[in-house]
Amino acid sequence: MSKPSDYDLILVGGGIMTATLAVLLKHLDPELKLVVLERLDDVALESSNAWNNAGTGHAALCELNYMPDDPNGGIPSAAMAISINQQFQESREFWASLVESGVMQNPDSFIHSIPHMTFVRGSKYVDYLKRRFESLRNQPLFFGMEFSDDPKKLASWIPLMLEGRGSERVAATRIEQGTDVDYGEVTNQLFAWLKQSGVEVLTSHEVSSVRKISSGWQVSGRTGDTKFSLSSPKVFIGAGGWALKLLQNSRIPEIKGYGTFPVSGHFLKTENPELIAKHQAKVYSQAAVGAPPMSVPHLDTRVIAGRTSLLFGPFAGLNFKFLKHGSLFDLPLSIRPANILPYLSVAIKNFSLVIYLVKEILKSPREKLESLREFVPTASSADWELYEAGQRAQVIKPAGVLGSLQFGTEVICSADGSIAGLLGASPGASVAVRVMLDVAARLYEENLSSWEPAIRNLVPSYGLDLNSNADLAEKSLRKTAAALKLKA
Ligand SMILES: Cc1cc2nc3c(=O)[nH]c(=O)nc-3n(C[C@H](O)[C@H](O)[C@H](O)COP(=O)(O)OP(=O)(O)OC[C@H]3O[C@@H](n4cnc5c(N)ncnc54)[C@H](O)[C@@H]3O)c2cc1C
Repeated sequence: MSKPSDYDLILVGGGIMTATLAVLLKHLDPELKLVVLERLDDVALESSNAWNNAGTGHAALCELNYMPDDPNGGIPSAAMAISINQQFQESREFWASLVESGVMQNPDSFIHSIPHMTFVRGSKYVDYLKRRFESLRNQPLFFGMEFSDDPKKLASWIPLMLEGRGSERVAATRIEQGTDVDYGEVTNQLFAWLKQSGVEVLTSHEVSSVRKISSGWQVSGRTGDTKFSLSSPKVFIGAGGWALKLLQNSRIPEIKGYGTFPVSGHFLKTENPELIAKHQAKVYSQAAVGAPPMSVPHLDTRVIAGRTSLLFGPFAGLNFKFLKHGSLFDLPLSIRPANILPYLSVAIKNFSLVIYLVKEILKSPREKLESLREFVPTASSADWELYEAGQRAQVIKPAGVLGSLQFGTEVICSADGSIAGLLGASPGASVAVRVMLDVAARLYEENLSSWEPAIRNLVPSYGLDLNSNADLAEKSLRKTAAALKLKA
């Protein structure tokens, strides 16, 4: 039996997306009655947990996939890189204003300056990187980027990666404004404030049914052996990889034809202080043939709970779970008449990706070490241990009767704006603020114009094109750097 409830919005999932949306909404309308339902026994235990992701503040400072080469060998377009960077600035501005207002504590606990670098090998890639640098060096949001193909200079930037390296041509770009972010800590701090602000955060509550009722939505499930059922006029499904199945359960037509392509991830990690001392950067490189963009290898400095380590990976893999704590039946049970063809067409069209993922799973420890040695030629297996990170659920989007594999995020919203959910995982937590502003706009379209001044208090560059105004870009970077104790 449905228990009457007077929540204004039910949010499913205790990750960074839900936390961000709830904090935004509580600032825009403190009277809103919100409840968060999380199936695990705490929040931030899935992809948003620090160990389950790479902690990169994705601002397109170092990731080649946000700036593909120009097919004619010209200067590659910076448009996508600028757009990603600007979205990350919105996250920086949001966190900075929350630190200033005391909602978030001690920025050193969740964000650190760490140079972002792109490292490439071979003349073809060196040439591409140089043209990429030419395209970005004068963009206001990419201020301070340097390029070098001088091995001595590179050895001063990334000694660990140059030690024992042969004579192959190499080059890198480096930019100091890069960041390492503990998204789990961000999530935990946001939830701590939400609880203080009267938002109910119910853990060990697994939602299994989302049904339309006359007053809105009835959201039901189990907590332990007990059933629960809540209702509200609006619902947000921020259930990570399980968003697909809950949106399918809601039967909104907008989810028809969608599917999810799960990609698992493992990292090699070391806490050897000698190695850590010789590598202080997040270094992204070129992708292997067939590799998906989010599997571009990188060697990263990570700071989690005050401890520094180095991470190398990800080693992607194929398994049918949509969440790390999900089920091997996730993929088979997500198949519907409307998404069979999208699933099949994506598998056929992306056969090189499927082969790549299978090969990655089958990689022996020795082969994983060989991949690491492309970054750290002197690496020894004794220093590195392999661990499982989170599960990425990439979007399969219907395209006619077939489907296409997307590497971004997709907000699905019913036509009446009463239920929205989030599919996809890239660029991920870095752009949580932009994506959740989009969700807020879809769920509360009628309030948006009156909320704009309050949104600008939290995110001053909201609606502005930062990169086209050098003064504004500099001001935003400086202000957020000061509040978040980052390098300006
Ligand atoms: C290997 C890897 C590396 C990554 N690296 C980066 C990176 O460097 N930078 C970056 O910005 N992003 C990165 N990401 C992406 C980023 O981690 C995600 O985009 C982000 O954490 C997603 O947040 P979320 O809140 O949507 O999902 P999650 O953190 O997964 O939270 C979803 C929550 O919903 C809960 N839930 C699910 N179903 C139900 C249900 N039925 N009832 C109740 N609760 C439910 C889950 O238990 C979970 O707690 C990475 C991801 C992976 C996997």
